[in-house]
Amino acid sequence: MSHRDLYERALETAPGGVHSPVRAFHGVGGTPVFFASGHGARLTDVTGHNYIDLCMSFGPLILGHRDQVVAAAVHEAVDRGWSFGACEPYSLALAEWIRARVPWLERLRFVSSGTEAVMSALRVARAATGRSKILKFDGCYHGHADGMLVRAGSGLAGPTAATSAGIPAGTLAHTVVAPLDSEQVMDEVFKVAGDDLAAVILEPVPANYGLLIQRHAWLQHLVERCRKAGALLILDEVITGFRSGPEGAAGVLGIVPDLVCYGKVIGGGFPVAAYGGRADLMNLVAPAGPVYQAGTLSANPVGMRAGLVTLEQMAYREGWRVLEHRTETFVTGLAERLAESGSDLGVARHASIFWVHRQSKDGDPIRRPDRIPADQADWYRRFFHAALTNGVYLPPSPYEVCFLSMAHDDLTLALAADALVEAALRPEAS
Ligand code: PMP
Repeated sequence: MSHRDLYERALETAPGGVHSPVRAFHGVGGTPVFFASGHGARLTDVTGHNYIDLCMSFGPLILGHRDQVVAAAVHEAVDRGWSFGACEPYSLALAEWIRARVPWLERLRFVSSGTEAVMSALRVARAATGRSKILKFDGCYHGHADGMLVRAGSGLAGPTAATSAGIPAGTLAHTVVAPLDSEQVMDEVFKVAGDDLAAVILEPVPANYGLLIQRHAWLQHLVERCRKAGALLILDEVITGFRSGPEGAAGVLGIVPDLVCYGKVIGGGFPVAAYGGRADLMNLVAPAGPVYQAGTLSANPVGMRAGLVTLEQMAYREGWRVLEHRTETFVTGLAERLAESGSDLGVARHASIFWVHRQSKDGDPIRRPDRIPADQADWYRRFFHAALTNGVYLPPSPYEVCFLSMAHDDLTLALAADALVEAALRPEAS
């Protein structure tokens, strides 16, 4: 069965043939690859081809595909029953593990997706402050809740559409959008809207419109502005939580949020996410308080076991330190080889996340979407397909970031670097 046959059948059952937009390859063109299995750092497609995976399910698989210890824990959990809709000890164990490592995370609530985590955290912030407006930043993605789909990244990144259709104007009126990397505009926004802001939501390391690493001074400025205006600070750590380190990007950057959203790594590849923070805020959530939020499959025991074992293994294997070092070595080597080859490509990195991009004209780090060179999309399309031919699966969008896992060993990374350098030298005609 070819990819094309499967895709044509999929087009008959799902919008655009997919269940999440970026999977359709619109960002890179061509027919989506259908994968049959994953193992370690590799994916195998339905025709038997093998690829080194640098997308890693967009982030959750920090130990790699089908890690043996996680697999054993999941099998054991399945043997005990996979949904109770009632109290069980598995979510307690994961919550306690997290709370012991993230001191300001006094209470948390498990949900099933990053979208839900953000939606719920915003509701808490509005209830706590009695204010309605939320400030978000241009290019950041916070899931697909109505009010967050304004100038969002991820599948909305690109020149044509930055805001979803189907959102009432009244909802959009509660979202204020500011550019990243400008203290001046931030001050103006706070001057006009500061008193109405329930919260500011930020990806501490924006990673949904390329990897837009922010200046520390800008981050500090934002924290101070929030405190002064009485707006809560919500860090969306769906990507960075338990990836940047056990305390997420907040720990690395030394920022204490009022509320935080987690997803991806927290469930080790299962549909788990969470929101949490200060006890006085989280105790507003039902049944402790008046903010309603619930979920039939929330804290699903299989996901809870997968999440806990993933985090335990990361701690046991000194995973965050190992991955930091491994990714730094890989990215530095790759950037050097790309520079030697005369290409004008850069590689941005944070922890085990990286993004290959066209350099800005002045070679400065790219910190906001409007600084991404206009030819990134065209170039990436050709780079992606050349890499695929060379046996490397990159995220199928010029604006999605790459992830490494503990399964990406030195040999795999050496092969991946060769394949990427070769792809950069000879990008395929699309
Ligand atoms: N926030 C951020 C920063 C994300 O990257 C994502 C998803 N990539 C979300 C929220 C939404 O998470 P989910 O796709 O699990 O709803």
